[in-house]
Amino acid sequence: MTAKRGPNPRPGILDIAPYVPGTSALPGAGAVVKLSSNETPLGPSPRAVEAYLEQAAHLSRYPDGSARPLREALAKLYGLDAARIVAGAGSDEILNLLAAAYLGPGDEAIYSEHGFLVYKIAILAHGATPVPAPERNLTADVDAILARVTEATRLVFIANPNNPTGTYLPFDEIKRLHAGLPEHVILVLDAAYAEYVRANDYEAGIEMVATSENTVMTRTFSKIYGLAALRLGWAYCPSAVADVLNRIRGPFNVTGPSIAAGVAALADQPHMEQAVAHNTVWRARVAEALDRIGLHTTPSAANFLLVHFPDGTSAREADAFLHQRRIILRRVEEYGFPNALRLTIGTEDENNAVLEALTEFMDGAR
Ligand code: PMP
Repeated sequence: MTAKRGPNPRPGILDIAPYVPGTSALPGAGAVVKLSSNETPLGPSPRAVEAYLEQAAHLSRYPDGSARPLREALAKLYGLDAARIVAGAGSDEILNLLAAAYLGPGDEAIYSEHGFLVYKIAILAHGATPVPAPERNLTADVDAILARVTEATRLVFIANPNNPTGTYLPFDEIKRLHAGLPEHVILVLDAAYAEYVRANDYEAGIEMVATSENTVMTRTFSKIYGLAALRLGWAYCPSAVADVLNRIRGPFNVTGPSIAAGVAALADQPHMEQAVAHNTVWRARVAEALDRIGLHTTPSAANFLLVHFPDGTSAREADAFLHQRRIILRRVEEYGFPNALRLTIGTEDENNAVLEALTEFMDGAR
């Protein structure tokens, strides 16, 4: 029997497949090794936690509606114009605000084939048409994206590095993409994993946003800064885009504790750098160790690896096997990878635990 539905939503809404986050808990007692959501194993800066707790004294007050202290701290750290920063409840909210402001029925938005799932949901939620572009070597393909631009295109979403592949598009290619787009199209550079990138051309991205009228960069405190639970993201926008987003966002879309924790996290750059260094070392070690047991990974610039299971082995079975050992990775079928799992780089112990379990699984599969 189908459940009785209430009043109908707008056409197309019920065709949207909800975003289903990776498993975050397992039945039964005992801790889990959770390497499924690209969270930092080092946690947030203790200074951020302290600043968050101090906010307990102010819970009856609305926060600063434009997250000014956070915008000013970001502007100072990165040499930006605070008036062009818009904060959001996670970068997910910013992506949705961009879709709400620039997309409607008849409009199109392009993203690469294995791009972050929220793009498609945000596009469909606003009645526009999603246009996936094929990739080359699991990396966004500038020519394929440009070939799909039409009069109706309004937004192009590029995650760099991309989730779930971890692949990185060199900045020259981003520039070529931007140069090939007509002025009526906004290029959204989703830089959720920006801090993890060691390529020395990366900082140029923010420079390009700073000088272009149709590029937006989105960033987050959920990954390297370890504040995923607080839902804090931001965008650097051309002034006109910031003005548009400020008209439609909720008047207090970011909470006081989040603003305080974000400011304190930015002030602790050594903690952030420690997380980068940990990731750089362990990403290479884990990839090498997986390679030795026959599990190929896509070269990643982020804090996770896409692990491909060879023919004759099953990612789904590996996932169940890992659950028995209380280890959780991310299934990625809905991203178009039926025989892969995404593995977040964890602490030394977590990395060793997952490597040991996968070695056992592969030994059993041979
Ligand atoms: N973009 C990408 C590419 C991501 O992987 C994520 C997190 N899964 C986000 C944006 C959203 O992050 P948040 O909303 O936590 O800022």
